[in-house]
This record gives sequence, C-alpha cells and structure tokens, in this order.
Amino acid sequence: MPQVNRGITQPLILSSGDPAEALAEARRLAAAAVCTGAGDKPCGRCRACRKAAGDIHPDVITIRRQSDDKGRLRREITVDQIRWMAADACVLPNEAARKVYIIEEADKMNPQAQNAALKLLEEPPADVLFLLCVTNAEQLLPTVRSRCAERRAGSASAVADEEAEALAEGYVRALSSGKREELLRWCAANEGVDGRAAAAFAACARDALADRLCGRKETALTARQMLEAAALLERCEDYLRVNTGVKHIFGLLAVDSPVGGGKQRKEP
Ligand SMILES: [Zn+2]
Repeated sequence: MPQVNRGITQPLILSSGDPAEALAEARRLAAAAVCTGAGDKPCGRCRACRKAAGDIHPDVITIRRQSDDKGRLRREITVDQIRWMAADACVLPNEAARKVYIIEEADKMNPQAQNAALKLLEEPPADVLFLLCVTNAEQLLPTVRSRCAERRAGSASAVADEEAEALAEGYVRALSSGKREELLRWCAANEGVDGRAAAAFAACARDALADRLCGRKETALTARQMLEAAALLERCEDYLRVNTGVKHIFGLLAVDSPVGGGKQRKEP
C-alpha cells in the first residue's frame, strides 16, 4: 500500500463559473484533508468530517471579502487579510494533521494581496493546504497561477465517465510504478481510443493528480512529478482540441511523462 504523502500540500486553484460549486468542492477537499477516517477521504462519518461539514472545524479557515463599516461587502480581498493568513498559517493546527485555508473568490484578491500571497504559495508552511476558489483563473496574476495546480470544480463528478476514470487511474498507476516500460505498455495498449475518449481521459487524469496533490488520495509520486504530468496532460488537451491524432498524444505521454527517478518521501 502506498504511503501517505502527508507533506504534499500543493496549493490548488478550483475554478467554476458557479462560485457555489467551486466553494463546495473546496469544502469537500478541506474535509478530505482533515478527515481521520479510513479509506478514501472524506469519509463523511468521522468527527473531523462532521465538523468540516458544519463549518466549525478549527483547522479549516475560510478567507472571504469582508464588510466595510456600513455593512457593505468590500469589492476586494485585501492585503491585510492575506498578511493575517500568512501569520496564522505558521501556527500549528489545533487538532487535525494539517490546516486548510479556503480563499473564497480568490480572483477578488487585489494585486497587492496577490503579491503578498505569492511567497506563501511558493513555499507553504508544512502541512498547510491553500485552496483558491475562482470563477476566472485569468484574473489571477500569472505568478500566482504558476505556483498552483488547477482543477475545474465539479468536472470529475459532472462527467462521470467510467472509461475516462479507468484510463486516468491506469495512467497514474503506470506513473507510480516508476518504470518507463510499464508506461510504454500502458500507452501502447490504449492508443486506439478515439479523440473524445482521449480528451476525457486527459481531464480525468489531471483531476486524479490534483486529488493526490492536495492529499485526498495516497500516492508514491512526488509533487514535482505530479505537477509535470499535469502540465503535460494540459498540453495534450490543447493538442486534442486542434485534432492532433490520438496515437501522437499517447506517444507524447510515453516519452515525456515524468516516470522514475522520483524520490520517495521518508516516513514522517
Ligand atoms: Zn472523515
């Protein structure tokens, strides 16, 4: 059984046209991060899951736009809020193994606030997970975006494509094997799928990696491997959009996927 990479807490951007959907996804991932149940997380039954669901878990902290003194919602998330978050993130968790900060409408951070967030996102304190909910990731500074993994909220559940999910898990398994020949075998076995299935697979595989990056699922992969693989899959999606042949895509995956050479994290 692969060990849990507890330390992997890659900041994650959750994007959706519907802010409520992005927030719901963030809450689910936050619950997964603090869940103490066995098996896939969140289990939904343990004390931590129930507290997270009730929005009373002390280690799940939400940053959102504040009201001004007239009770009106401010237009932006301010730099002071982000500075507060930076200071608070250095304090150890109260009861969970990690702390989670959900930034609601992170695209409403003003540039000053985003710059303040930059250092934090680049080198998050150990066992702190940042989830940035956005309706439009383009509103974020490129420097902020480049430090985060990105995931479309609701995409995996909305698609519910079993074939794509099976392919995605197969790809992650081949990556995790650490053996290039294992990956080559997997690519050769699946290069016959059609363009639609390949695109669904690529989106699903990025979600599968995001799940592992934020600690929702166990993995033997390193954060760097997962980020490289996610970037490669994004490139594949771009190629597929301009009708690049599926064989070419799987050839690219076979050659460019970051397999092997990854360091195993030491047991904490
Ligand atoms: Zn749980």
